Amino acid sequence: MNVHRSLKSPEELMAAGLVPPERLAGLAEVASRYAVAVTPAMVELIDPADPDDPIARQFVPSEAELTILPEERADPIGDLAHSPVEGIVHRYPDRVLLKAVHVCPVYCRFCFRREMVGPAGLGTLSGQALDAAFNYIASHAEIWEVILTGGDPLVLSARRLGELMARLAAIPHVKVVRFHTRVPVVEPERVDEALVRALKSCGKAVYVALHANHPRELTPAARAACARLVDNGIAMVSQSVLLKGVNDDPQTLAELMRAFVETRVKPYYLHHPDLAPGTSHFRLSIAEGQALVAGLRGRISGLCQPAYVLDIPGGHGKADIGLSAVRPMEEGCYSVADYRGEEHAYPPREKTGLDEKT
Ligand SMILES: *Cc1c(COP(=O)(O)O)cnc(C)c1O
Ligand code: SF4
Repeated sequence: MNVHRSLKSPEELMAAGLVPPERLAGLAEVASRYAVAVTPAMVELIDPADPDDPIARQFVPSEAELTILPEERADPIGDLAHSPVEGIVHRYPDRVLLKAVHVCPVYCRFCFRREMVGPAGLGTLSGQALDAAFNYIASHAEIWEVILTGGDPLVLSARRLGELMARLAAIPHVKVVRFHTRVPVVEPERVDEALVRALKSCGKAVYVALHANHPRELTPAARAACARLVDNGIAMVSQSVLLKGVNDDPQTLAELMRAFVETRVKPYYLHHPDLAPGTSHFRLSIAEGQALVAGLRGRISGLCQPAYVLDIPGGHGKADIGLSAVRPMEEGCYSVADYRGEEHAYPPREKTGLDEKT
């Protein structure tokens, strides 16, 4: 279906044929709690005839979101515990998050910041709050990298982004600027010459971390948007969430990672889904995730391997939760598993030709 603007309510989703009329009442309740938006590019990708469509599952609200489990929390990764000033999250010594906006072009149903984003969320930083955030960065010489996230920072106009970049350009200890965004996929036309120029204008090393979860999201238009960034010297990495019913099978995951690499986006993180409220229908177990990630190793190019990470609830940061290939054995020896699961001693125990000569 072709639409010309984003769909932002269950009624609009119904009119576009993405939600049946009998579900309107239930979904109205969901929409009153969590923001809804699906961009034209994503509407076009959805197959309305497929009840399990992996794109619809990410963006079209579901009654399952009304089921809140006791272990779920409004701030699943503990941003607020590490926020010294509004808009800044400083959890690790050398880098901070700068959350200038709390709106997104799409609202992912599994979003870990779903209580903070959207029209009813934390909003956009006021001029004063932004001054305080930049003062914080400027007065902490250990901050080597600034990560713009939110929300989706690329919803800002090129002019506004240019202003933010000029302020970062003036802070010599900041060497790297990173953006976390879904825009190149969900609104690829936004990535135009003016936006690229604005991102580059800080004169620092600029990275864009692209959030996408299913290989179909890497449409020709999305790939072209990424090419405009990469061709202009902006490095790209990927960020995906492992989601039940979206990408939790070996084939889809391999295709997703290959689609990134073909687009010159280096797979970076595969996130275990966070304990955000009303998202249990997306979660699988860590053991299931480990098996899926182990299944990628060796079978597809090393370029296609993401790190499987969990953001530890409570604000303790990210941990690599992929299965380790190495197990300590006795006397400083190790057992190392190859990609087929076969174990090998390190250092090797068998005699070599070299041993016989000596
Ligand atoms: C995820 C995160 C980062 C970035 O972590 P990397 O491992 O460098 O990608 C930085 N700060 C906070 C608070 C985060 O949650
Ligand atoms: S784009 Fe990111 S911040 Fe926005 S709804 Fe999706 S996961 Fe949440």
